[in-house]
Amino acid sequence: MPLESCVQTMTDTLLLATNNPHKVEEFRSIFLPYDLVLQTPANLGLFNDVIESGKTYLENASLKAQAYCQDGQNQVLADDSGLEVEALQGAPGIHSHRFLPDPNATSHDRCLYLLERLKDFPRPWRAAFHCEVVLLTRQGTILTSHGVCAGEIIPEFRGANGFGYDPIFLVDGTNQTMAELDPGIKNLLSHRGKAVLGMIVQMGLPLRQG
Ligand code: IMP
Repeated sequence: MPLESCVQTMTDTLLLATNNPHKVEEFRSIFLPYDLVLQTPANLGLFNDVIESGKTYLENASLKAQAYCQDGQNQVLADDSGLEVEALQGAPGIHSHRFLPDPNATSHDRCLYLLERLKDFPRPWRAAFHCEVVLLTRQGTILTSHGVCAGEIIPEFRGANGFGYDPIFLVDGTNQTMAELDPGIKNLLSHRGKAVLGMIVQMGLPLRQG
């Protein structure tokens, strides 16, 4: 038997440092063509409430990755993302999830609050989503990748896909909000999709066979 047929290449694993089901779904779809097994903290019975105390997306993503690296047992991928609105000098930015101090506030509440803050500014309300992705390898190497998706905030809710600010974010080059886009198209155009693709290139991930 030729030696090559005896050699089993082991599919690598990657732990996603997030419990956000929407992000997990997006990561799964983006990584689908690649030979990689994705794990989540829930899969592994890991529960870690990471305090996002960083001043940048990169610092927060690094905090999340480090929290789940478990002494190098896992290769960990974390992201930190946010919406930057020009009229609000880049707010809410890294505070997008905590834009409203009420811990029980919903995404819908945060969208309404953003629209309230913008109502006296002239349109278009230019904005961009940002995402920083950090990969922490088992050897302790750190790779980073940033993605941006430009668009504008609109004063009505459109679409049922996605999460967060998607229903009020009109994506440049389309006439659709992120919540109206097909999820596969969102992943091609989004800040997260672009950041992850940049990471996939750096990782040199092989395509899944068959
Ligand atoms: P974090 O990256 O988990 O800190 O979350 C940042 C927050 O930004 C989310 O809770 C959403 O409110 C918002 N956000 C980040 N990415 C997206 C997206 O793809 N669509 C809509 N909102 C997003």
